[in-house]
Amino acid sequence: MELNNKSLFREKCFVNGLWADSQKGNTIEVNNPATMQIIGKVPNFSAEETKSVIDNADKAFQSWKNTTAKERSIILKKWSDLIIENVDDLAKIMTIEQGKPLAEAKGEILMGASYIEFYAEEAKRVYGDIIPDPRPGKRIVIIKQPVGVVGAITPWNFPNSMITRKCAAALAVGCTTVVKPASQTPFSALAVAELAKVAGFPDGVFNIITGSAKEIGMELTKNPKVKKISFTGSTEVGKILMEQSASTVKKISMELGGHAPFIVFEDADIDEAVAGALQSKFRNSGQTCICTNRIFAHKTVYDTFLEKFTKEVKKIKVGNGLEEGIVSGPLIDKSSLEKVIDHVKDAVNVGAKIAVGGDVHPLGGNFYQPTVLSNVSTKAKITFEETFGPVAPVYKFSNDDEVIRMANDTHMDLPLFYSGKRKNLESC
Ligand code: ADP
Repeated sequence: MELNNKSLFREKCFVNGLWADSQKGNTIEVNNPATMQIIGKVPNFSAEETKSVIDNADKAFQSWKNTTAKERSIILKKWSDLIIENVDDLAKIMTIEQGKPLAEAKGEILMGASYIEFYAEEAKRVYGDIIPDPRPGKRIVIIKQPVGVVGAITPWNFPNSMITRKCAAALAVGCTTVVKPASQTPFSALAVAELAKVAGFPDGVFNIITGSAKEIGMELTKNPKVKKISFTGSTEVGKILMEQSASTVKKISMELGGHAPFIVFEDADIDEAVAGALQSKFRNSGQTCICTNRIFAHKTVYDTFLEKFTKEVKKIKVGNGLEEGIVSGPLIDKSSLEKVIDHVKDAVNVGAKIAVGGDVHPLGGNFYQPTVLSNVSTKAKITFEETFGPVAPVYKFSNDDEVIRMANDTHMDLPLFYSGKRKNLESC
């Protein structure tokens, strides 16, 4: 990998201020989803090694919690600045291990840095409250305190910004962190750790460990020294982590699956709706939890929307994200590709028509064609499950009540996109 700053590519875990291999020398290979070539290896840490990292993070917490907000803010700001200075290298690492186009990767890195900057500023504003007491001559004073070691388990679709968003908040208030990044994208995490080291976090305050998700996840959730778990990933894994965290009654924050509806009302500006649908559906090849997964178009504008949308989807340039002009990269791995294949086949089996795409891409590997499906039945799997791929099913609706019922017919939350009738929808 050709980088300006070669120290950003690390094949070791970052623990207690040092770069470490697993004691037994076990490793996990990481591949480039666009070329299937091996990029490198990272250590496969055991539960026992995870425990020792948590012990050190807990020791580091005893002094980090006593630093002033200003001291923490200065280090965080430096970290953010270093990430911005190294944006080109960090984006290259991300595209190579994750597949998203370089421009999208750069956008994520800058977003990641902005989270750190935000929390560096907020560190100084962690105010408490004073509440009137029902007893005379007394007041209730609420102060905010750092909870301790925070375990962060992060996904592969935003390999930088999910780490900075979780950790910057925790570090800003005086907590220490142990991060387990997704095994598909550990190098973006380790690059950010290199910059955290340069920024000057004391040893043990910020740690990144790679290895078996199950083993490390179990230790992070069961270890009593970890006081909080922050997770972004699938609903299935979120449920497991909530259950495991119950034994030590941890504080938890979960950002799980999505199934965002996109509604095109009869009074929508269709060109604007097409532009919005393209952006919200095909970003990161459909692999974000806020990606549109179901498009509902009113019967009076259905055909026009479908035609214009399909025309634009045909123009999406698919390929290796390092190449100029690529808008859509590969899916992250084989199992993601298989899910997309299955959702499209199933939708077609129950009556959907393929307006464009509908098959694996001629590039092979993990590439799938940007796809639009029309006349999709509400019985199709894609109506109920998150696809996490470049497939847009378009459903027809007749009135507001019907579409609001359809849009809400999911146990998953996250955003609602719509075009037209904005005022009416505010209250739904
Ligand atoms: P996705 O389906 O998007 O890959 P996952 O929920 O499987 O989402 O992965 C999100 C993160 O959760 C990754 O870091 C992954 O390694 C981790 N993970 C997966 N399974 C477990 C588990 N049983 N315990 C803890 N972490 C897990």
